[in-house]
Amino acid sequence: MSRPQHTVAASVAALASGTVSAVELATEALARANAAADLNAFLHIDAARTLAEARDADARRQAGDAAPLLGVPVAHKDIFVTRGWRSTAGSKMLANYVSPFDATVVERLRAAGTVCVGKLNCDEFAMGSSNENSAFGPVQNPWGNAQIGARIPGGSSGGSAAAVAAGIVPATTGTDTGGSLRQPAAMTGITAIKPTYGRVSRYGMIAFASSLDQGGPMAHTAEDCAMLLDAMAGFDERDSTSLDSEKAKVSIWRAFSDIIASKRPPSLGFEGLRVGVPKEFFAEGLAADVAIRVQEAIDTFKKHGATLVDISLPRTALAIPAYYVIAPAEASSNLSRFDGMRFGHRAADFTDLNDMIAKSRAEGFGREVQRRILTGTYVLCHGYFDAYYLQAQRVRRLIAQDFQAAFQTCDLIMGPVAPTTAWKIGEKSTDPVAMYLEDIFTLGVSLAGLPGMSVPCGFDQQNLPVGLQIIGNYFDEPAMLAAAHRYQQLTDWHQQQPGGAK
Ligand code: GLN
Repeated sequence: MSRPQHTVAASVAALASGTVSAVELATEALARANAAADLNAFLHIDAARTLAEARDADARRQAGDAAPLLGVPVAHKDIFVTRGWRSTAGSKMLANYVSPFDATVVERLRAAGTVCVGKLNCDEFAMGSSNENSAFGPVQNPWGNAQIGARIPGGSSGGSAAAVAAGIVPATTGTDTGGSLRQPAAMTGITAIKPTYGRVSRYGMIAFASSLDQGGPMAHTAEDCAMLLDAMAGFDERDSTSLDSEKAKVSIWRAFSDIIASKRPPSLGFEGLRVGVPKEFFAEGLAADVAIRVQEAIDTFKKHGATLVDISLPRTALAIPAYYVIAPAEASSNLSRFDGMRFGHRAADFTDLNDMIAKSRAEGFGREVQRRILTGTYVLCHGYFDAYYLQAQRVRRLIAQDFQAAFQTCDLIMGPVAPTTAWKIGEKSTDPVAMYLEDIFTLGVSLAGLPGMSVPCGFDQQNLPVGLQIIGNYFDEPAMLAAAHRYQQLTDWHQQQPGGAK
């Protein structure tokens, strides 16, 4: 069942030993992307550009370059701007936009040697939980089939998740404002990590809600995520919220490797690890299959030495209204630049300046984005600011305090990523509130700025993947990744493939 050729670690090893070239890997990835075009995971593919990058990677290796990811094919969420490729953010507003510069994440991954295979579909401006809000059509979850119907891949990084799950590329980038790395990873059976807020530069990441947005990697394994995140993370003076503390300077890969090395077989266990299990994460609304799989995963940690601790995150449900005030408020400000003049689509017919702006925005933005802009503008209005925005900020602080109280008694927190598995395309698209409720377990982590992971932990009765969420304290990514890596040595959920062997 394993697919070593589809992991970053296996690709790095094969490239280093010379059994495969970057050009061969890129050619194969392009062929797979082409064969899986029905998924609608990719928005832009430029084979000539990809192959040029791959030839360059091979030349770098010939010249003795030892970049850690030299020749590894990846693809970027279309929220990251890329010089030479279109960057649409899944919006008609930016349908033809080509950035004159690369996002820091793109620049760093290229410096680390990766080859870009294309740009990936996502919810418009990263607003959504199903990828159905993309102006370029929904993405199919590779785990859907004729029997259970076409399924959403999760969102907003739905294309990024589907491309990894379908084995097109071993890793992709995504962004997470309220769950958009973790939830699509859970829905497609792959691994992803949202870093501590400020770890990964937001420079060149098209902004949704700046106090929450954070980029991160998606791949099959925790080990691959550790490699990718190590290359992506680090201080960037072009992002004013980028972290420059001593803790942020520690190499994620080195710290991860040290933890792994300190626990060699037969003591592969989790002795000394205190796992906090929040009772609010196992409440009404959680699908029975999801609850069982997540509980089994937590029991695996216990069986191998971890101590389980009952904890409470009493404001879990309040994260939904707080987030859906704060995120739209920031979005309404961030998206004001798309006026058809400074940035974005311009309407063809208009009478005066106001008419041009109104028509351009009405044509360029989809319904969900318009809904968020209206909500955000409303909660920031003079008369409502205190009642909504200020109140939401207070709740945000209390949520962060709840997590800190919990971390007094545990090292990592575990629970479900989402209350259900992947639903049918179209099932919730006319009910925004039903969609917002799906984010209940991921939003608090984002509001607190904490790191969170999704790790595959089994399947429901329809053979749809379930994700285990691992939440760590600030800067604890190496410990989270190491715990997930050891779990993946004990289980093979991350090695299962949709539709049999590819
Ligand atoms: N589903 C959430 C939203 O719609 C989170 C999206 C995200 O993390 N980008 O806002």
